[in-house]
Amino acid sequence: MGKLILVPTPIGNLEDITLRAIRILKEADLILAEDTRTTSHLLKHLEVHKPLRSYHQHNEHKVVEDLISTINQNTITILVSDAGTPAISDPGFLLVRECIKAGIIIETLPGPTAFVPALVNSGFPCNEFTFIGFLPQKKGRQTKWKQLTEETRTFILYESPYRLVKLLEEIKENLGETRNVCVSRELSKLFEENKRGAVTEVLNHFKQKTVKGEIVVIVEGKHDSKKTDAEEED
Ligand code: SAM
Repeated sequence: MGKLILVPTPIGNLEDITLRAIRILKEADLILAEDTRTTSHLLKHLEVHKPLRSYHQHNEHKVVEDLISTINQNTITILVSDAGTPAISDPGFLLVRECIKAGIIIETLPGPTAFVPALVNSGFPCNEFTFIGFLPQKKGRQTKWKQLTEETRTFILYESPYRLVKLLEEIKENLGETRNVCVSRELSKLFEENKRGAVTEVLNHFKQKTVKGEIVVIVEGKHDSKKTDAEEED
């Protein structure tokens, strides 16, 4: 019976791939990739020569059944996304769920993901946090903001550079101008930037330039008046 292994790949710096990930990529029978061209570049760099098949958000429902039998015929099938950990704001969940139903063994390697360094860099409490990822573009966005107004844990948002200013304006509007945020841009890359402060200040900073690169926004949770400072620092 085959096995499905999810392998995290670098989010910017090509050195951020584990020795185990490289070994397993070299042992694979087949690599499922979100974008075969992006993955080919990485595999070339790692000197891995394995067959690739595309698996992305536009074909996942169509190919999942066929993939289950392919995974069963192979010894090791790998799933990678363009960057970071598959299934984290990327395709993967459906395949994992269907493999579990079919009794296929799943392994996920520990490795790069954008939200962990952004969360830790923020300096906001990370004993408890909530991962939101991309907010819905239209339907459900306002409902989500209503829920987030009450969120006392640090929370994590993914956003495109073109929509960062709009997102910061929404944070200011819904959570107040003094709410602390940390914008991590281009993590692990040459021009990495971590801008911390009250949302108004961070908004002014990003309004003054054309925002480029990849972005994670960490938002400090609502201050829980019932908690003591010591409890919040735990
Ligand atoms: N699977 C990935 C992970 O494990 O983090 C996330 C994929 S999601 C399609 C892409 C988003 O992740 C970007 O829009 C950005 O919000 C975030 N991201 C990816 N790489 C990043 C980086 N180097 N710096 C900051 N954010 C990054």
